[in-house]
Amino acid sequence: MAATAPTPAGRIEHDVPVDALTGLMRGGAFESLLNRSITGSPAAQFAVIVIGLDRFQHVNDLLGYGAGDLALYATARRLSGTLCADAGVCRLGGDEFAVYFPACDEPAALLHASIILAAFEQPVHLEGRDIFLSASIGLAVFPRDGACGASLTRRAAAAMHRAKSRGGGAVERAGLDPAFRPEERYRMESALRFALARDQFSLRYQPQVDREGMLQGLEALLVWDHPDLGRIRPETFIHLAEETGDILPIGEWVIAAACRHITGWRATGLQPPRIALNVSPVQFASPGFVDRVTAILKRTGIGGSCLEFELTEGCILRDVDESASHMAEFRSLGIRIAIDDFGVGCSPLTYMHRLPLDVVKIDRTFISQLTGPAGSLPVVHTIAVLAHHRGLQVVAEGVETFDELELVRAARCDLVQGFLFGAPLTHDEVARLLANPSSLGKSFRSPHPSAF
Ligand code: C2E
Ligand code: MG
Ligand code: MG
Repeated sequence: MAATAPTPAGRIEHDVPVDALTGLMRGGAFESLLNRSITGSPAAQFAVIVIGLDRFQHVNDLLGYGAGDLALYATARRLSGTLCADAGVCRLGGDEFAVYFPACDEPAALLHASIILAAFEQPVHLEGRDIFLSASIGLAVFPRDGACGASLTRRAAAAMHRAKSRGGGAVERAGLDPAFRPEERYRMESALRFALARDQFSLRYQPQVDREGMLQGLEALLVWDHPDLGRIRPETFIHLAEETGDILPIGEWVIAAACRHITGWRATGLQPPRIALNVSPVQFASPGFVDRVTAILKRTGIGGSCLEFELTEGCILRDVDESASHMAEFRSLGIRIAIDDFGVGCSPLTYMHRLPLDVVKIDRTFISQLTGPAGSLPVVHTIAVLAHHRGLQVVAEGVETFDELELVRAARCDLVQGFLFGAPLTHDEVARLLANPSSLGKSFRSPHPSAF
């Protein structure tokens, strides 16, 4: 479908492809608009806002896809009606929209974002009902956050997903980790670009132990050792890598490295357990991810059943059915699917029954708050009961003390991992552990050594 779409400075461009449902320009035209703005006036600041509807899947589920379409149409109208005339609005796809604000710095863009959020406080009238939608917003500013339309949109979208995964209804700025000052961020971003080529990444493995104290799995955790910046934890750089797109090659390196390690351990007669790998939402949603994983398995000669993918709620929020079908594809390769950090998001129980899962990993915030009058023990217990009812395995993350160990045992968790068993292990330390599995029990002096 072709029609007219707004461009900066009020010019009307003809034959721009528009979205059939909303009449808004589509993502490709939007990026061209941003690129034209950059080439037209390279010194002029502008802002890009990406808007995602929170828990939009519920509207489809409750009222049907027809009502979902009406809600998207109403959102498009609402956005166009709220924004100033020179803003360019587009539908990126699904429940995601983007807006270009010419001649706009970050404070002004934040003001626009808060006006958009306020507009969502009014219900949408759909098929005789008032439906309340809420939105998450990600914000990127040219030139600070990207040099072209595609990178600015990608970064604003990654920030939006961060806002969503923290509960929604909020604004996040691209790459603005409170730990970073702008110059630090620039330094880290440049360093990240070369980290793979300079061989600065390595993996650590954290044991997962069953109720008999036996090693049942190892979670691979990425470590970045930079010669000047020192050791950088994944929590510090994964978001940045997601925004810059570096997460795709880094994520593939992680999968390939773990597969090579499995082959290496086996070559020396050792029998590694299943390896759990963290998969970023950006990686999970990237086109061709299943094919790339299949190619790595083939290249390294590793069967999928040696691996487990840990996905967070961010992998699922976008579209539950689409996520479920990706998961099913991985499971058909033999890879198990775990939901990581379970319980910290907004409504994990509502989609748990719709996903082809194998494992639920209860977030460590619940484990560290097990004790006390308002302790989380009943929550952990309920999650375990529900998960077992569905035939899922339950892992308690971040177990640091024997008290916690006893309580997660009482709450019927199947596996535990945490600093109680020591720091995550290097490749060579894993080899020593596999050669002498009883050393696992010795690494923590349990008052009840045989079990947890
Ligand atoms: P996660 O997947 O929930 O991993 C567990 C994190 O908790 C790890 O931190 C681990 O060292 C830490 N941890 C384990 N036991 C304990 C404990 O008893 N107490 C405490 N306080 N912490 C504990 P790490 O290595 O910094 O990883 C942080 C997060 O970074 C991970 O959380 C995961 O979301 C992400 N991450 C790590 N490796 C990768 C990777 O290869 N790819 C992607 N996409 N993300 C990764
Ligand atoms: Mg994990
Ligand atoms: Mg976790």
